[in-house]
This record gives sequence, C-alpha cells and structure tokens, in this order.
Amino acid sequence: MSNERDSKAAAGGWAALVAVGRALRREGTLTAGRALLHTNQPDGFDCPGCAWPDPRHTSSFEFCENGAKAVAWEATDRTIDAAFFARHTVSELRQQSDHWLEAQGRLTQPLRYNRASDRYEPIAWDEAFALIASQLRALPSPDAAAFYTSGRTSNEAAFLYQLMIREFGTNNMPDCSNLCHEASSIGLPQSIGVGKGTVTLADFDCTGAVFSFGHNPGTNHPRMLATLQAVARRGKPIVVFNPMRERGLERFRSPKEPAAMLTGASTELATHYFQPRIGSDPLVLQGLMKRLLELDREAGGQLLDHEFITTHTNGYALLREQLESLDWPALCSGSGLSMDEFTTAAEVYLGADSVIAAYGMGITQHRHGTGNVQQIANLLLLGGHIGRPGAGICPVRGHSNVQGDRTMGINERPPADFLDRLEQATGIRAPRESGCTVVECIERMLAGQIRVLISMGGNFAVAAPDPEATHAALGRLDLLVGIHTKLNRSHLLHRGESLILPCLARSDRDVQAGGEQFVTVEDSMSMVHASRGFRKPVSPQLLSEPAIVAGIAQALLPGSPLRWAWLVEDYDRIRELIAEVVPGFGQFNERVRSPGGFHLRNAAAHREWQTVTGRACFIPFAGSLEQAPAAYPLRLTTVRSHDQYNTTIYGHDDRYRGIRGRRDVLFISARDLETLGLAAGTRVDVIAAAGGRERRLPGLELVEYAIAPGSLAAYYPEAMPLISLEAHDPTSRTPAYKSTWVRLTPSASADLAPAGP
Ligand code: SF4
Repeated sequence: MSNERDSKAAAGGWAALVAVGRALRREGTLTAGRALLHTNQPDGFDCPGCAWPDPRHTSSFEFCENGAKAVAWEATDRTIDAAFFARHTVSELRQQSDHWLEAQGRLTQPLRYNRASDRYEPIAWDEAFALIASQLRALPSPDAAAFYTSGRTSNEAAFLYQLMIREFGTNNMPDCSNLCHEASSIGLPQSIGVGKGTVTLADFDCTGAVFSFGHNPGTNHPRMLATLQAVARRGKPIVVFNPMRERGLERFRSPKEPAAMLTGASTELATHYFQPRIGSDPLVLQGLMKRLLELDREAGGQLLDHEFITTHTNGYALLREQLESLDWPALCSGSGLSMDEFTTAAEVYLGADSVIAAYGMGITQHRHGTGNVQQIANLLLLGGHIGRPGAGICPVRGHSNVQGDRTMGINERPPADFLDRLEQATGIRAPRESGCTVVECIERMLAGQIRVLISMGGNFAVAAPDPEATHAALGRLDLLVGIHTKLNRSHLLHRGESLILPCLARSDRDVQAGGEQFVTVEDSMSMVHASRGFRKPVSPQLLSEPAIVAGIAQALLPGSPLRWAWLVEDYDRIRELIAEVVPGFGQFNERVRSPGGFHLRNAAAHREWQTVTGRACFIPFAGSLEQAPAAYPLRLTTVRSHDQYNTTIYGHDDRYRGIRGRRDVLFISARDLETLGLAAGTRVDVIAAAGGRERRLPGLELVEYAIAPGSLAAYYPEAMPLISLEAHDPTSRTPAYKSTWVRLTPSASADLAPAGP
C-alpha cells in the first residue's frame, strides 16, 4: 500500500481544526471546549502535552491540535467507577488495547486489587495509605522500593515526592526523563555546565539559522511550527536532518491565520532537508564539523569563532585531531549523505550570524545518545553559538514538566549540594548512594531486589522497552501503586498487591484547606509558570498529587520533622521550601505570580561555564558505531503517530504520513522495496537479534515512504518487543528506541498483526 501522503500539503490547516472538533465531540464538547479556552492562558492551566513554551503574548486559542487532544482526553466527561471494575476482571481488562483502556474515562475512587475476585474493589484513602506504609516498612531496605515519575507531575508534587522518598531512605527515582532526554541531562553539563537548553523563544525571533536534528515538531511539539514559520518568514534558513520526510518540517498553514486558511496559503519551513541513515548521527555531526574546519582553513581561519574558542573553551585541538582523522568516504557511506550535502549544510551554518540547534529523541534514544548530544554542543561551540542572542542549544522536551521534575530533585543521581540544602531546610537525612534509572529498576525487579513500585503518573509498563521483561518484572512485585487519572496497562500486570489512586488532572480545580491552589511547571526553555485548574473534579473522592504524597508520608513517616498535612493545606508553603533548596527559586511565591511566571537563569547562556574546567568543553565522540550485522542489515526506528502522545493513543490515524485507521504498518523506502524484492502492501515480520535471541514483530504491512534507504520505521509501543533491556546508552541508560538492527521476512498468513492497539 503506498501511502496517500501529499508532499505538497501543509501541516496544520483545516484538517487540524477538524481533528480538534473530532476530539471535542469524542470526549464531550462542552467540558473539553471550556477546558481548551483555559489552556495555556495566564490564569488557566498548563497543557498536559509537551513542554513547548507559551509565547509572551498569548492568544485566546493558545493550543495546538495535539494539545487539544491531550486536554480533551484528560477533561473527558467519561468516568469509570466501582461498577465498571465489578463488570470487568483484571484478566479481561488485560485483553483490551491500550487505547480502549484509557478511553474508558477518568478514575473516580481509590481501588485495591482483590486476588480472589480478580477485580479491583473500592478502598478508603486512609486504608490505602496505611497499606502502602506497612508494605514499605516491611521491606528489608528502602532500596527495595522504587518511585517512578511521569513528566506530567507538577513542581510542588515532585518536590514533596522526592522529599518523602529521600526521608524514607532511597534515591530510587526512575523517571520518564530516563527514557527521553537523560542524554541531555548527563551530556550537556560535561560540555557546557548545565543540562538544559540555553535558548528562549526570543532567540528564535532573531536567530540567523535553525538546525533541526531528529525530531518531528508537527506531531510532538506542534506550536513550534508557528515559531519556525516566523523564522522562515524572516527569510532565515531552516536546515533539517531527519531520516523521514515529516510534513511538520516541510510546510505549515496556521489555523490561527484566517487569510491563510481561506486562501490556502502556507509557509515552506525547511530550506534544506537532509535524510541521513537512522543511527548515523555521530557521522552526520562529525562530517558537518569536519567540513566547517576545512572551509574555515581554506578561508584562513576567518569563518569559525576562534576568539570564542580560545577564550571560552578547551578540548578544541583534540576534537580537530579526531575530525581530521576521519575520511570522507566512510562519513558519506556511513551517513548516507553526499559531500555536496555536507558542504551545503556547512555553508549555511557559516553564513548565519547566529545558529540555534534543536533536537529530540532522534538524537537521544540511541546507544550513543549522550555522545550525539555532545557533538551538537561541539558544533555550536565552533561558531561561538552559545551564550549570545539568536544562538544556542534547544533540547525539545517531550512532556510538560519533565524538566521541572528534574529541577525539583527527581533524580536517581542527585548532586551532593542539592542533598545538603535539602537536609538543611527540612531536617531529614538524605541517602547519598545513587538510585536506579528505569532500565536498572526493571533489572532489579527481575532480580527480586526491588519489591515495591509506586508510579506518579505515566504508563511504566508501556513506556519501558522489552515488554516481555518489563511485564515479568512488574509481575514479581509485592506491591504496585499507580497514582493516575485514567486506567492503563500498568495497573493490570501485577501478581501481588495493587492499588490505583485517582488524582486530580491539570484542568481540575484544586481546593485544599488553605483555599484554591495552583501548581507550577517548567517548560523546555526554563520558564516557570503557574497552572490553575478550573473544572469541578469528576469525583469528590479525587485527591491532588501533593495531597496523595502527604497522605502516604504521614502514614509512612510518623516521626518526620515535616508537617506533611500542613504543607499541602497551602502550596505556598511547599514553594517556600523549594525556594530554600532549589537554586534560582528565591522569592518563588512572589515571582511566579507575575504574568507568565519567570525564567530560570541559565549560566551557559551567559557564558559562565559550570563545568569541571570552568570552560566550555569540546568532547570528541568516544563511541564506536556498530556495523550492520550481516543477517540484520536494516535499521529500525520507532515513531509516534499524529494521533498519539507518548504512550497514549487517541486514535488510529497518522494524517501527515497518509495512514488512516491503523497502526500495523512499516515505513520503508522505494529503493529498499526494490532491493529486497518486496512490494508495498506485503505483510512482513520484523526480526531483531537482541539479548541472545531473535525477537519477532509479526504481520506489519509495508508502506512505501520517503525514508532514508536502509532505514525502517514502526510505531511504538507496538515495536517495543524488538528492543531488549540491554539495548541502551551505557552513559544515560536511555533505551535505544531509535535504532535496532533488523531483517524482514514475508509473514506467514496466520501472523497478521492487529490493525490498531
Ligand atoms: S505545543 Fe505542546 S504544550 Fe503547546 S499546546 Fe501543543 S501539545 Fe500542548
């Protein structure tokens, strides 16, 4: 089946409005419609989608198509109560798709699994807290428990959560950042002294060029398209490196522009679109830097910012030596890019007075993800493109507060000075040993070392790689606790005790003893702002995330120096503690009440390098790229569809890639179809060798697509069975979701994959 992808069509446009309308109708037009009018508004709530920042001057419709889907999905009128769980055993629910489970609606009361009836049954909050406390205290060590965090968790909930966990005695805080931008959080501090992006939206307003690596903004952070459109309209180049042609990087028609909507006018975004092979990022970045050095040498050293290099960096000579040692034939054949393409990209870079490099999972979710991130930092340092207007590095975070959670201390490897300040401000004794990431957590659950897992949001079972191992690990736990707004697969894989604790959503009004409360979040560009729910909660039995943490802490830590109940009566009290512990949060309560909140100062953006050397560091690529195993010559990446956000599947269309009503597809290039003697529409099994055995993903239908030769793409989480626990970046422990060596074989007719999850 060749996909109906019209390469001339634009992202956004009428189809985006139709999709928003469809989402509202599905979830309850009135409620979800009202929620949209509060989304990303100064006195409204923060979109629970991605972490793209809000413009200083918001419009009445400050959301994108996928933000609308996320808000409607959360603000749905549908609810599930005890009657629902009385009708369905856990074994029956396990047979349902991920989409179906979440589509049932909002949870309304705390539930405990009854092994005898194989059903979830109501439990009182205090009973639930007491059960959790007794199970945790019964453990041989606090390190036999782990506490997962999803990026939807607010700053206040995250700070209290880490405080409780550390007072309990462990740093076992696997979080969703381990699965996405951990390579940035670990790699960038070694390069520039801070694990966050150095740009703000204002830098995009004056940048001379945007280089985009391994991300798909049209689906994953769609409001970025308006930002890129503004760059394009200023006539500035946008240079894209992505194995797949993505509509959102090619052309955009803003649904907020009536003239464009009526005339069909749209803006071309990418001025240059390069499609390297999947997994060849180090070669792409090294090739680009090598070409820059060559052109600079030919120009007598007049093109790169040598004054910046001398004044602010170290390691340049080592990097130059490495780049000079590389040969072009290997760089071109390995990356799939030609010498001309490298030259063109280098000339655009040198022609720009300031450069922003934006990147996503296509850079971080590889065995060499950390190295990839550091090569992007190297690329920018060569031109002095960090720490001046219009220039800098822009890791685009996938979840609304994933950066904030890390800032609040959700970190399995916490810096000592953070723990010192925490002890100082709270009187607790904080553990100093490192905890576990998601991959390590699964390994320790399998080994029986971790017996309790508490998840604050997220869908651990589906977000983690290697479902066979992950599901088995969850099945070995004594206690599994999920603090969630909706039912998902992570509630259905336990064998021991299991609790589901329903919490307030972003759009829900949060009233505590001290009155109506707001929470705060931090976006990809370090803007900290308030989020106020407006909607009457779907059930009086829902508790806020901070209140749930306080409830568990009171039961678990009777001798605590902290007044947990008092802290959640008024979240200003939590913010006062945060102001004492977290750098940059002084006068937190005052500053966050100013319109739009405040920006967290980024030292690297001021050319203050908090690295071990006190200078920005060029770090040559240290990894070695694996050669394609003879038996598995193709490289598979996993992607989201346009009807999906992380593990949440809203629907089965992928409009920008021409896919309708299904997810059982494998994107492949015309050249590989020819080389393999396969036709589009053929059903194939995708086979990988990992963890010492073959893994098979059966029955996907081949879809001819504009993807780099030698590269394939399938949707996640369906493709997760091909990704073993061992396949991760040894530095960041981030799973290599974006590159798995595979081979294809025609499917036996019996093995057809289901059309959608
Ligand atoms: S760009 Fe991200 S944060 Fe903004 S509305 Fe869309 S999904 Fe939400």
